[in-house]
Amino acid sequence: MGEAQAEKCQSCGRELTADEIAITKRLINRGAESFYCISCLAAWFEVNEQDIRDRIAYYRSIGCTLFEPKTE
Ligand SMILES: [Zn+2]
Repeated sequence: MGEAQAEKCQSCGRELTADEIAITKRLINRGAESFYCISCLAAWFEVNEQDIRDRIAYYRSIGCTLFEPKTE
């Protein structure tokens, strides 16, 4: 179960991953303090969830510092 400071989706309340927080910053506003899950971001931008996941993979691949590098 989550850590004390886990962020929750502002729309649906689901606990967020670090990637979801990072992609919210990337897609909405680098200074965002409200974050959204992949499902809610996809609905907001009228794309499917895979498109959001592809964006995360893309930004990570170009070395965007918002995204923690994958170690595995
Ligand atoms: Zn949500």
